[in-house]
Amino acid sequence: MRNYNPLKAPEGVRIALMGNEAIARGVVESGTYVVTGYPGTPSSEIIMTLHEYGSGLDIYAEWAVNERVAFEIALGASLGGARSLVTMKGPGLNVASDPALSAAYSGVNGGMTILVADDPGPMTTQTEQDSRWYAKLSKLPMVSPSSPQEAKDFMVVSQRLSEALQLPVILRTTTRVNHTVGEVITGGTELPRGFQGFRADPPRYVRAGMSWNLERHKWLNNQLRLVEGLVKQYGLNRVVEGGNKCIVTEGVSYNYVMEVLSRYRPTGNNVKVIKVDLLWPIPREFLLNSLSDCEEVLVVEELDPYLEESVKALLNEQKIRVNVYGKSNGFLPLEGELSALLVAKTLSKLLGFGVLSAEPRLKSLEVPSRPPPMCPGCPHRNSYIAILFGIAKAGYRREDIPIFGDIGCYALSVNPPLNAIWVEHSMGASISMAIGFKISGYNRPVIATIGDSTFFHAGLQPLIEAVNKRVDLLVVVLDNSVVAMTGHQSTPAWETTESGRNVKPVDIVEIVRSVGVENLAVVDPFNLDEMTTKVSEFLKKPGVNVLIARAPCAILKVRREGVKRRYKVLSDKCTKCLACVRVTGCPALYVSDEKVAVSTEDCVGCGLCVRYCPYKAIVEVEAT
Ligand code: SF4
Ligand code: SF4
Repeated sequence: MRNYNPLKAPEGVRIALMGNEAIARGVVESGTYVVTGYPGTPSSEIIMTLHEYGSGLDIYAEWAVNERVAFEIALGASLGGARSLVTMKGPGLNVASDPALSAAYSGVNGGMTILVADDPGPMTTQTEQDSRWYAKLSKLPMVSPSSPQEAKDFMVVSQRLSEALQLPVILRTTTRVNHTVGEVITGGTELPRGFQGFRADPPRYVRAGMSWNLERHKWLNNQLRLVEGLVKQYGLNRVVEGGNKCIVTEGVSYNYVMEVLSRYRPTGNNVKVIKVDLLWPIPREFLLNSLSDCEEVLVVEELDPYLEESVKALLNEQKIRVNVYGKSNGFLPLEGELSALLVAKTLSKLLGFGVLSAEPRLKSLEVPSRPPPMCPGCPHRNSYIAILFGIAKAGYRREDIPIFGDIGCYALSVNPPLNAIWVEHSMGASISMAIGFKISGYNRPVIATIGDSTFFHAGLQPLIEAVNKRVDLLVVVLDNSVVAMTGHQSTPAWETTESGRNVKPVDIVEIVRSVGVENLAVVDPFNLDEMTTKVSEFLKKPGVNVLIARAPCAILKVRREGVKRRYKVLSDKCTKCLACVRVTGCPALYVSDEKVAVSTEDCVGCGLCVRYCPYKAIVEVEAT
């Protein structure tokens, strides 16, 4: 149990913080007033920390409907002189990339930091996107911390740099920095800086004038020339040790390098570690000075050979002939996370010291892999069962009706026993891709399934497209009234946000009706018969049909109401046919010693399995 408030701890104390909590602390230390974002692992805990510990602080910390909207809110606040932060995971920057590129031309007034968290691995993300390329594309400065301490400090530096340059600054992290807990020394806090004033200046802020844009592009390139000098003042970029075998690294990879060097202590200790904190613009002067006496260079970084290409280009340009090792010549993999063991093996090739072939401690932690299941009592399980039954009831074979999925917990329906969705791509894509599939000439019904928060995020425009083009489609909105997968954040349907702000709830039903959908129904997925009938009925109707399957997330329901009903399996009646397990796949049902049983710790009493036991062996017991 924590006995301190990470946001209100006094200056100069040492506290243990997760990287994301440290960034939230950096919000307070940098006087940031507006914090907005869209939930996405591994970035979500920044705003969640502000919600949990920020009571009484004058900071606007709220989730926005999607990353683009969040970005533009932060940008608008910054134009008025407020300091702002927008948070998102890597693919979120794809959504926000349009305003990001224009923001580089208009610039900002109050400091604006764009926190983008990538996910090498990937552990929770659809791609191993390397968002460092966005800095190069957008020409926005980017800094990269390697620890919770740096995550906090770089949040402060980003805001200072942003105000000095009048440009948004990207603070780029990866999962291991966001979620690592480490010691952080707190700094002093600043009063949040809100609106300061605004003067109209069309050539600067209006992107409709082509000659203005040319001038702003020149301005942008000039600003970038100032960045390296500024970050030097803030103490970024450093050479850690001397020697002529050189390792260029950044972010979490720096930690692996230092761990390996301290563990194996290579003979002669002739290794220089060049830590690059500024990822864009590439710090030319720092790198050229640091690399000038290197005999060999190894670039250690995760994902793409981003730094490696820059180092090679720089050395080439200066006609410095040095061997550079990294990803392009196979010394490190292009995919997945790095680890201390992987870095140790790579360094041993360069430095010639022995490395253990495997980490014994890690080996003992190996566990068998298994597909992640939906939670016990999850309403999405019922919805997909009803969809599959509805397909059969309408007279189709399962394999005749493609089901497009979307981003959210319900994508787990791809796993056995449901094996429901065929395609899952990116936020909101279920409806648009189903439209494309249908207009390509597919002559049977097509189903798109999308969660409520994903619908708010990116589902509305595809629905308008479907209505406008008169596409025959069944859209099932899986409405559990929360952004569940990323930690139960609010949606626009809430009446009060996590910060306690009273807001006007927005109802998906009203939205759907307003765009001209004629066949619309709201069903309770726990009423399986009703939902199955509606699916079957809507599959036969032309035009856009929308079914809203509305029931709260099981975890939230249990937190609010507790478990009201309990079930058990009567072993004398159970024939071990496993029908209950095969139909529901509920993880609260388990098979042990040839017996099927209900885990009392996990069962939330939804009653779904009872329905599918042909022998009536699952019965309700009195709740304790
Ligand atoms: S469906 Fe009923 S009989 Fe079959 S394994 Fe489950 S509890 Fe036992
Ligand atoms: S009642 Fe059955 S299906 Fe529902 S949570 Fe409990 S074990 Fe799972």
